[in-house]
Amino acid sequence: MTDPREQWLETSLVRLHAGIADAARQAGRDPDDIVLVAVTKTFPVADVLRLAALGVRDIGESRDGEARQKAAAAPELRVHFVGRLQRNKAASVARYAHCVHSVDSLGLVTALDRAADRRGRELAVAVQLSFDSDPDRGGAPTADLPALADAVAAAPALRLAGVMGVPPVGTDPAACYHQLAGMAARIRAVHPAATMISAGMSADYPIAIRNGATHVRIGSALLGARPSPVR
Ligand SMILES: *Cc1c(COP(=O)(O)O)cnc(C)c1O
Repeated sequence: MTDPREQWLETSLVRLHAGIADAARQAGRDPDDIVLVAVTKTFPVADVLRLAALGVRDIGESRDGEARQKAAAAPELRVHFVGRLQRNKAASVARYAHCVHSVDSLGLVTALDRAADRRGRELAVAVQLSFDSDPDRGGAPTADLPALADAVAAAPALRLAGVMGVPPVGTDPAACYHQLAGMAARIRAVHPAATMISAGMSADYPIAIRNGATHVRIGSALLGARPSPVR
């Protein structure tokens, strides 16, 4: 292996897997129960191919155009859509996404269901909890999330995978992830198969794993500083 970037990514990936395994063991959990979603947004397609060669199977993206391009370049990878999704992009995302983590409105449920049905495929969906009910940040408030989960479960072309959350800057991630775990349990009581808890980013993934995260979404701790800002 002579590609220095691939060597760098390999070192980073080994360190990250060790960090995930440590956090899992400290929480009395099996490291194999935690899926690493490598958040490749704004990194080049070449990095996605390098990660695929290193055994990464799941990538996270937050913009439709970029995600579509990477899905086409690496069709063996599962693409997780983790950013805010506008309804007019639902048809596109439903073609290539393995899972949409950021569903926060009934309109989006309807649009994704219609689009997935048209493609003849089943799309996994997580409903996103808003910790501060700020409509600009994405996510649905606590009071609305169970009904949103019910709507996903009732949508023929969607599969309710679970819940997702992004702690607002400046808040205590432990409190947020604890709240998310409570919401996940509440939704699981009605929909037992909705076991996914998408929680944890570079700065706080051990805390998320302590609070039951099944999918950690890691960008900078794996790939380094993002080459360009998102939005
Ligand atoms: C960018 C992004 C991440 C990854 O963030 P890092 O701090 O780089 O690990 C995770 N989740 C979402 C929703 C994101 O937009």
